[in-house]
Amino acid sequence: MMALQTEPHLADLLPALRGRVQRDARLGPSTWFRVGGPAEVLVRPADVDDLCTLLRDMPLHVPVTIIGAASNLIVRDGGIAGVVVRLARGFGDIVIDGGGIIAGAAALDAVVAEHAAAACLSGLEFLSGIPGAVGGAVAMNAGAYGGDVASSLDWAEIVTRQGDLLRLSAGEIGFSYRHSGLPPESVVVRARFFAQPGDASAIAARMAEIKASREATQPVRARTGGSTFRNPEGARAWELIDAAGCRGATRGAAQISEKHCNFLINTGGATAADLEGLGEDIRRRVHAASGVTLQWEIKRIGIPAPGLTVVA
Ligand SMILES: Cc1cc2nc3c(=O)[nH]c(=O)nc-3n(C[C@H](O)[C@H](O)[C@H](O)COP(=O)(O)OP(=O)(O)OC[C@H]3O[C@@H](n4cnc5c(N)ncnc54)[C@H](O)[C@@H]3O)c2cc1C
Repeated sequence: MMALQTEPHLADLLPALRGRVQRDARLGPSTWFRVGGPAEVLVRPADVDDLCTLLRDMPLHVPVTIIGAASNLIVRDGGIAGVVVRLARGFGDIVIDGGGIIAGAAALDAVVAEHAAAACLSGLEFLSGIPGAVGGAVAMNAGAYGGDVASSLDWAEIVTRQGDLLRLSAGEIGFSYRHSGLPPESVVVRARFFAQPGDASAIAARMAEIKASREATQPVRARTGGSTFRNPEGARAWELIDAAGCRGATRGAAQISEKHCNFLINTGGATAADLEGLGEDIRRRVHAASGVTLQWEIKRIGIPAPGLTVVA
């Protein structure tokens, strides 16, 4: 009898790696929103060399998606085709470096801020309130309370889709508001931030102030993704959403936060389609009320559930 020919699984097309390779890996539980379908293949490279091997030796047509702490993402219910790369151990080192700090891409922003504070270095207090990791902070030009990555980054090291390790200066990355011009499918692996010698108690006070302000104004303990929409030129997204009567609006178990109406929340059991669908409802209602078309700040990635109209 003739043996049946089966297509090789994508995981079988990858080079041998020292890190973990998982097929049909659930992503939802490790995202802030707790929603989303599986990754076709999830790779956690052991270190930079392993990542270079993966990207250099896997077929170029396979799409690559990078996930950090997943605090700014909606992973859609249909999951993500191709390879999802998540950096973990091996990318978390933080080193004080003269008038600056070098951090691996998987180091949490808040931990970088704590290391800087412990070394009496100021200028990075803004990172203390951002729940992502360094790679995501560079990719998103994260910022808060008067600071942002664009104005504090010295350089970032990336691995390109071809598997080459490059060091780019902040100027070469091309930052704009909550956006970076990193090459497509490249992975940030390390970054150096500038910081200045400062007074320990002033740094601690600034970080405490940021924490208190966030707790008072944002649903920081909810299943959320931070600011949903960018602030349009000369306006604030939350004010437009409030004025359109959308504070507290729901769709399934997705809700616009009562506390901060530019935050979407999974109140329990929401799907990615509920969250994205509610976001699209809000965009329509804000447009009808004010003429302004809100732009998503949260990244929505993966394959939509059937029936959902996706707007870029
Ligand atoms: C409660 C709450 C409050 C927030 N407050 C703020 C705030 O004040 N200011 C602010 O700017 N943001 C805020 N955010 C949003 C979010 O924390 C930031 O955008 C953060 O920088 C995202 O980092 P991450 O590691 O979670 O990235 P992810 O959400 O995992 O990914 C975001 C994007 O970055 C890309 N990416 C991630 N890692 C890498 C990497 N290593 N290399 C290349 N690309 C990568 C992903 O592909 C994706 O496009 C908030 C979020 C929450 C939940």
